[in-house]
Amino acid sequence: MTVLVIEDERLLSESLCELLAQHGFMTEAAYDGPSGLEFALTGVYDLIVLDVLLPGFDGFELARRLRARRVGTPILMLTARSGLDDRVEGLDAGADYYLAKPFEARELLACINAILRRQGKQVEELSFGGTSLDLASAELVCAERSARLSAREFELARCLFSAAGRIVSKETLLVKVWGWESEAVENNVEVYVGFLRKKLSAIGSCVKIKAQRSLGYYLEAEA
Ligand code: CA
Repeated sequence: MTVLVIEDERLLSESLCELLAQHGFMTEAAYDGPSGLEFALTGVYDLIVLDVLLPGFDGFELARRLRARRVGTPILMLTARSGLDDRVEGLDAGADYYLAKPFEARELLACINAILRRQGKQVEELSFGGTSLDLASAELVCAERSARLSAREFELARCLFSAAGRIVSKETLLVKVWGWESEAVENNVEVYVGFLRKKLSAIGSCVKIKAQRSLGYYLEAEA
């Protein structure tokens, strides 16, 4: 799946693209209204993440022009403003969802998943070592046994299962599970890894969360 990110703040754009890439999306970025519209008109994207305040013309205008040209790509609109009028204008212009800045990574991902689920494009589960993570119910499942996860445990599990055995750094986990503006520290990651280990073992999974000192964590299926 490919997401077009139209956002003029370079750092935010980069973080968004990185976050999406970590969750298995391909991304392309545009930094102003006119080039964003040009990209979007190709209709090749599964989702457009659209900022409201952009150079050239704004996100409302872009959404209106896109819908006027019969391009139905779902739009998630981002803005610093969260007033009702803006939300109504965004939805009227053709946005499917509205997210006010600042937002947490998991909020954005939840929105994206909600939009894609409506489109019938969402992945239902992630699997590793005979264990699966059900993305709809936030449960870990191994054979007949299952364990429900808290929101943080779920995001942590999602990061590790998405990486499918590759190392995920503690910094990445902090950003993806706790958000950019959070004051969580590496110790939080360790605590939640502990919770997740207990749940994996409670359902009889052979999947272990291994720590690579100073680098991060990864999944390993033990025989
Ligand atoms: Ca902006």
